[in-house]
Amino acid sequence: MTFLEKQSDPTSFMHWRGDMQADYLYTNGVAGNRFFAHLKKKDTFLASRCPQCKKVFMPPRMFCEDCFCDIPDKAWIEVPARGTVRVWTVATINAHGKKLKEPKVIALIDIDKTDSAMLGIIKTKNPDKDLFGQKVKAVLRPKKKREGTLKDILYFE
Ligand SMILES: [Zn+2]
Repeated sequence: MTFLEKQSDPTSFMHWRGDMQADYLYTNGVAGNRFFAHLKKKDTFLASRCPQCKKVFMPPRMFCEDCFCDIPDKAWIEVPARGTVRVWTVATINAHGKKLKEPKVIALIDIDKTDSAMLGIIKTKNPDKDLFGQKVKAVLRPKKKREGTLKDILYFE
């Protein structure tokens, strides 16, 4: 296969299927817990701004990854659950090679008023549309049904 041929069979790469034991527990941490508690109650995202370099992290961090300084509570801010599509792809098959009922648009979204991006599903009637630079907003579960997880972000539109 050359790079000019379109890859549509995810199983054609050298791989093997099987089970791998992975016993570990991943915790959200203090910042993650606050982010998800916020998401459960509000229609915005929680972020934090580095007091030195002014970089805004979403989800929030307690330390700046560039300056290595503490980010105090007073530097935590709410940002709109909106953003701009940076890149996207359209999936027509799932990870097991089975055709999806509908194409799924997966995008990297630059979150407004932050220096961060997140992956999200874009709900669109026209998956072939050029989405570069498209403004999108998160559609969240109804507040009464939120769990405080990423699943509370249903999709972007
Ligand atoms: Zn910084």
